[in-house]
Amino acid sequence: MRLAFFGPPGAGKGTQSTWLTAYLSIPHLSTGEMLRAAVEQGTELGQAAQKYIEFGQLVPDELAIQIVGERLEQPDCRSGFLLDGFPRTASQAAALDALLEQRGEPLDMVLNLIVPEDVLLERLLRRGRVDDTREVVQKRLQVFQAETAPLLKRYQARSQVRPIDGRGTPEEVTQRIKTLIDQYRTKAD
Ligand code: ADP
Repeated sequence: MRLAFFGPPGAGKGTQSTWLTAYLSIPHLSTGEMLRAAVEQGTELGQAAQKYIEFGQLVPDELAIQIVGERLEQPDCRSGFLLDGFPRTASQAAALDALLEQRGEPLDMVLNLIVPEDVLLERLLRRGRVDDTREVVQKRLQVFQAETAPLLKRYQARSQVRPIDGRGTPEEVTQRIKTLIDQYRTKAD
C-alpha cells in the first residue's frame, strides 16, 4: 500500500507510523528523520539542511525532493511505502505526482491526522527535541498552516483523503487508523 501521512507537527505521525509500517510491512519514509540523519552524518545535504531545521523553517524543496526521490528508488519501496512529512509544499506535491506517475503508482490514501493546536503545543513541548522549543514549535505550526495545510485540497479533489481524529491516547488513534486500513483492504480484495 502507498500511503502519505498528513498533519501538523505533534499530531502523532511518527508514533503511528511505527506500528502502521510494521502492520503493512512497508518502509517508513520520514523526511524529518532522513534529514536529521543527514545532519548527524555531516553529509553535504545535511550541512545544507541544518540551519533550516534549527529555525523551524522548511529546508529548500530541492533537498526534500532529492532525499525522497533517492529513497523511493530503493527496492524495498516496491511493495509500497508510508510517506511522513512529505510533501509539505506545492512544489514537493507536484514533484511527488510526477515521480509516482512515472512509476504508474498513485497513492492509495492520504491519512489526515487532525489535532487541535493547544494539544499540539502541549505534546511538542513535552517531547523536547532540539527543535521543540516554544519559539521554534510556533514557527513550525505557522509554516504548516501557510505551506502545507493548503495541499490537502489537491488530494481531496482526488478523493484520497481520510480524516482521522488524532486526539486521545496513541492506542485510540491506532484503532481508528486500523479500521480505515482494514476497510480499504477489504474493498480492494
Ligand atoms: P515535525 O512534523 O514535528 O515538524 P519532522 O521530523 O517532520 O517534524 O520535521 C522536522 C524538520 O525537518 C522540519 O521543521 C523541517 O525543517 C524539516 N523537514 C522535514 N520534512 C520536510 C520537507 N518535506 N520539506 C522541507 N523541510 C522538511
